[in-house]
Amino acid sequence: MSRTARVMDGSDLARRMVERAAERAAEISRRTGQRPCLATVLVGEDPASVTYVRMKRNRCERAGLRSRHVALPASVTQAELIGAITSLSRDPDVHGILLQHPVGPHLDERATFEAIAPEKDVDGVTTHSFAAMSFGLDGFASCAPGGIMRLLEHHDVELAGRRAVVVGRSAILGKPVGMLLLARDATVTYCHSRTADLPSVTREADVLIVAVGRPRALHGDHIRPGAVVIDAGYHPGNVGDVDFDSARRRAGLLTPVPGGVGPMTIATLLTQTVEAAARQLGALGAEAYTGAG
Ligand code: NAP
Repeated sequence: MSRTARVMDGSDLARRMVERAAERAAEISRRTGQRPCLATVLVGEDPASVTYVRMKRNRCERAGLRSRHVALPASVTQAELIGAITSLSRDPDVHGILLQHPVGPHLDERATFEAIAPEKDVDGVTTHSFAAMSFGLDGFASCAPGGIMRLLEHHDVELAGRRAVVVGRSAILGKPVGMLLLARDATVTYCHSRTADLPSVTREADVLIVAVGRPRALHGDHIRPGAVVIDAGYHPGNVGDVDFDSARRRAGLLTPVPGGVGPMTIATLLTQTVEAAARQLGALGAEAYTGAG
């Protein structure tokens, strides 16, 4: 029997999340006279990073948030970068901080992330946020993993007791999404570059999350018929980490690229920035927030 997966539309859900964030941002401004503000920090001029940061700032402005940009030269020292982040962490006019990854090989990215005040860590990159994610406590999620969880929830994907396989174990994507799945009682397996016989593991998955960073690295043969497949990858030419055409013939539900995880990531960033502002300004009832939806 030939099968065609249902496509999980992230664009529409993301648009609704951004509308909700914009409404809350307007209400915060009305009550406090302050607009929620996201500070972005960029080291160097890597073209992809410049584009990502510009896109995030534009989305903020369109949703009625303020953005403040700190551009640092590629030659910035560790002390200067930490100094810049620390000053944003202390600035009461800034509610969320996003340090664009990667920062450059001569810098200790992890140490720099830790200079972000936990209450402003709207990109979910600090150890504090990781701990909150893994224990299911109140805190901000890494944005792509948080967006993935919302997408799964929106499509009523059952997680408790199901086998979830995460391909990739990066600090911003693979590891945290696995923690969030575990917090939802999925049975989680991580795969990485040293995993032996990858297809035999991924074919066990009811829910397969792919964050490998290589175009079309996984295809139909990696997928159990009827599985839910989330492609977190993005490469030039609108290509994901999963081969869409062959995956579509095996999966039950599948995210497209573009229009899947990408818009959900930005919508999560905006939502978490507004939430951070609400908490810091004592405006509105803070929404209970575990990042996982
Ligand atoms: P990353 O830091 O390069 O990590 C890639 C992971 O994949 C590593 O854990 C690596 O294993 C594993 N891997 C590499 N080759 C493999 C193989 N042949 N078999 C199994 N595992 C393999 O990448 P990332 O930052 O997590 O990003 C992953 C993807 O998500 C990229 O395509 C990126 O563009 C995309 N992304 C999307 C968003 C969004 O908003 N949509 C946000 C961030 C990233 P080792 O640990 O053993 O090296």
